[in-house]
Amino acid sequence: MEASIMDGAGRRCGAVSGLTTVKNPISLARLVMDKSPHSYLAFSGAELFAKQQGVEMLDNDYFITEDNVGMLKLAKEANTIMFDYRIPTLGSESCSAVVDNPLLTMNGLPISIYAPETVGCVVVDCHGRCAAATSTGGLMNKMMGRIGDSPLIGAGTYACELCGISCTGEGEAIIRGTLARDVAALMEYKELSLQEAVDYVIKKRLDEGKAGLIAVSSNGEVAYGFNSVGMFRGFAKENGFMEVGIW
Ligand code: ASP
Repeated sequence: MEASIMDGAGRRCGAVSGLTTVKNPISLARLVMDKSPHSYLAFSGAELFAKQQGVEMLDNDYFITEDNVGMLKLAKEANTIMFDYRIPTLGSESCSAVVDNPLLTMNGLPISIYAPETVGCVVVDCHGRCAAATSTGGLMNKMMGRIGDSPLIGAGTYACELCGISCTGEGEAIIRGTLARDVAALMEYKELSLQEAVDYVIKKRLDEGKAGLIAVSSNGEVAYGFNSVGMFRGFAKENGFMEVGIW
């Protein structure tokens, strides 16, 4: 598991990778930001820091669920790495069969509900201060030692005085496009609005079908964009307005 958090007001950040026993990686990322002299801790060093900080740690078995074992089996059989809620086509190198077939079930549930496990959150407070955070188990059937975009500040997560951004999808594509930082850079250097910056980045900086992102700006604008099949998302405003979406 891996996670990162950034407080846009002071451009402070913290990130962790290679965790196997920390229950809430995002809490550890915040402790790296608040309680360490560093920005990013990984593998045994991150686990040691977790112990020293007294965060909740659990036996590795806690994280192994029947659903994920099933999905991993599918991915291994297809010799593929999965980054969204499609199923692998047996024998193919990438997962391309979108799941709309009601007969495709696992543990009695339609396979399409097995969404990626990444969770991102962006917030803006009443003073216009933005923050962003992203936490993930990474990609199904990833190589040992692989680090994705989620803990990388500027790729999967970024916040500054202008906005907060969190990305999801194929980490390698998000890293290549420095998606999160590019949204902020377009606002800063080209003075685009949040939605214009998000649209530009999704169109010009991201390989087709690979990812998406959620964003807020310091003036309270909410924006999202994706070119993956769908992206589970929701937002809530101070007046109680809430909205959720998938496609
Ligand atoms: N971006 C994550 C990664 O590549 C995966 C995801 O968003 O589902 O590790």
